[in-house]
Amino acid sequence: MAQVAVIGGGPGGVSCAIWLKRLGLEPVLYERGHIGGQLHDISLPIPDLPGEPLITARELIERLKRHLKTWEIPVFEGQEAIAYRDDQILVLKSGQEVYYPHIAYAPGLRIRELDIPGREWITQQSTSEILNMNTDLPILIVGGGDRAFEAAIRLAQAKRSVILIHRRDHFRARPDFQAKVQQLHIPIYVHTYLQSIESVPGALIAHAEQNGHELSFPVSVVMVRIGMEPDIQPGLCPLPISDVVPLWPRAHVRCLGDAVSPVPFRSIVSAYASGMMAAKELVMNLRHHA
Ligand SMILES: Cc1cc2nc3c(=O)[nH]c(=O)nc-3n(C[C@H](O)[C@H](O)[C@H](O)COP(=O)(O)OP(=O)(O)OC[C@H]3O[C@@H](n4cnc5c(N)ncnc54)[C@H](O)[C@@H]3O)c2cc1C
Repeated sequence: MAQVAVIGGGPGGVSCAIWLKRLGLEPVLYERGHIGGQLHDISLPIPDLPGEPLITARELIERLKRHLKTWEIPVFEGQEAIAYRDDQILVLKSGQEVYYPHIAYAPGLRIRELDIPGREWITQQSTSEILNMNTDLPILIVGGGDRAFEAAIRLAQAKRSVILIHRRDHFRARPDFQAKVQQLHIPIYVHTYLQSIESVPGALIAHAEQNGHELSFPVSVVMVRIGMEPDIQPGLCPLPISDVVPLWPRAHVRCLGDAVSPVPFRSIVSAYASGMMAAKELVMNLRHHA
């Protein structure tokens, strides 16, 4: 019988499942989408995974899947966990209820949303989907971090006209992304706040404010990439979560990965490490109480 349900199939959850198995437990992995988590959003080669210079995210996802298979860990893709009850029953969105003595919860992050008039015009599409659109109008990207810059680079490299706007004059994006944006001459409006979006025939008009002046951008698409927030669901983890250290918020639930990492430390290697620590802590706890 499976002893631990690992929820979330990003690098953190996969690492945790592998370590649990290696340490002698029987984990199963639930992933509401596909194995890989945020790796699916990485389109440029990954420069900082030790031992894997410039591996593509696609290749890394394939390797993670193979690794789970090697350890014969049952994986349930397309299965979202929605609650973990006091009687240690995990409830899935499909209605299924399964008993697990322990939960390792690695939900990662969700995109932060912008609450402005016309927010329904903000695209939910991925960069790849936008690349398939046929339009001559620019694409407006809001944000100053890796996700905003990576999208801008990819679109500009595909000869799309891109405008970046950011509320500050410094950026969280990696230095190489910043250099690339400069090299591609992507215009950046700093100290600029998106205020509203209006739809007119054939275009969207993005209204922004920069140092008290109104700016209007006729664009085809508005992408908002203003950061991410922990995707923790109260039914699975009801107690306040520290963003400093991973916690056992309930005796049988362990949170791990990006969802409980401080912003600067969110990365593939920290998610791997977090998965390892969660697995080892669980095993040590079990041995202690045996
Ligand atoms: C554009 C971009 C570029 C990046 N570049 C790099 C880089 O170069 N180097 C680097 O080290 N890191 C990079 N990262 C960060 C790295 O991808 C993350 O730090 C890492 O994926 C975090 O792993 P995780 O397992 O904690 O969370 P995630 O990868 O977010 O995975 C969480 C998974 O849990 C699933 N899930 C959530 N809730 C449930 C539920 N209730 N039931 C079932 N499944 C659920 C989600 O669907 C998701 O698949 C980048 C991220 C992005 C977005």
